[in-house]
Amino acid sequence: MKNRKTKLIVLFLAAMIACVGAGCTDNTAKTGSSSVTSSAAASEDESKSEVSEESNTQSKTESEAGESSAESINETPASDSIDYMALVNKTHPLPEDWEDKLETVHMTNSVGDDVEVEKKAYDAYLRLKEELEKEDIHVDLDSARRSVADQQRIMDDFTEQYGKDYALKTVAAPGYSEHHTGLALDLYLIIDGKDVVENEDMIQYPEIWSKIHAKLADHGFILRYLEDKEHITGYGYEPWHIRYLDNTDTAKEIMSQGITLEGYLGTASEADVSIDLGNSEIYTQDELKDAVIQIKCKFASLAGCELKSIRYAGDGAVNDENLNRMNEIDNGAGYTQVAEFMMDFHTPKNPESLTLEADRDYTDYNWWLARTADGGWNIVSFGY
Ligand SMILES: [Zn+2]
Repeated sequence: MKNRKTKLIVLFLAAMIACVGAGCTDNTAKTGSSSVTSSAAASEDESKSEVSEESNTQSKTESEAGESSAESINETPASDSIDYMALVNKTHPLPEDWEDKLETVHMTNSVGDDVEVEKKAYDAYLRLKEELEKEDIHVDLDSARRSVADQQRIMDDFTEQYGKDYALKTVAAPGYSEHHTGLALDLYLIIDGKDVVENEDMIQYPEIWSKIHAKLADHGFILRYLEDKEHITGYGYEPWHIRYLDNTDTAKEIMSQGITLEGYLGTASEADVSIDLGNSEIYTQDELKDAVIQIKCKFASLAGCELKSIRYAGDGAVNDENLNRMNEIDNGAGYTQVAEFMMDFHTPKNPESLTLEADRDYTDYNWWLARTADGGWNIVSFGY
């Protein structure tokens, strides 16, 4: 039986690497897991860390899983309701008065973690869970709300331990995670009585996820991080991350069209993107796909830009000269491989904080990526 503490540390490290390397996940959420098992005692201001995670990792049975408890806590009497359609992503921060208005409940999941969720989202989740159980599908909540203060603490810890550059690269910026809303829920699966919580394990059950996804909209939820939409959402595919909208009609519209919340709200274009991975003799198509996902996730930070195409620039750029240049830029990174990509995109009419020209087509825009022998791709530089 795997040690829960060890597992979470591994998850934590995997999340760190994932952000720099193989995928863009919202996994830093998991660093917010609390060791508090009594929901009433849990406080937002409590210091939460991996290290204090419980060491008991025994797999729970289904019936035990069903014993999750919830207790309502009105943190502050809300005079006004939150906006359930609020967009929070890498370019849209949590609305300022959000945390004052937010009403949450705490529950304890099957592995004993305290999970805080927005009140209505939790009720809807319970209805979804009940529906799924009729089809013998069992889920639980891995994490949901994480306060801005929690995220700031994670950022501060990382800055102290690894330096500012590394922290900025690996930890989601405080205020810019959808988990702050309390409306974003990370599910995990319980299969044959065993908790399946790790991303790489959960992804092995596409049939189960598609059955879950088919029921989301009926309960006011949408799937938030879709496949191939990294350039819009800034995150890779996450079948477990769902978002509550408090409106089944809207949820149904979004889910049936297979679009993102950004696309629905009109802050990003859902137009098709052309991807050309070429015919490399050095890299496999999957390796190049991983690099493209990194580029797309980063592209999502360029607010309002519309991505047109990404092309692998060819094996000609894979040489010592370019590799040395990457190692000079990221001093001491120890890269052993390099790859160049070209991108076409269009900038918005009002490019807020961009250093790009407004309303202009950019073509053959360069993206340079590099990786170490055992690491994922890093974006080293981009631009002309
Ligand atoms: Zn999530």
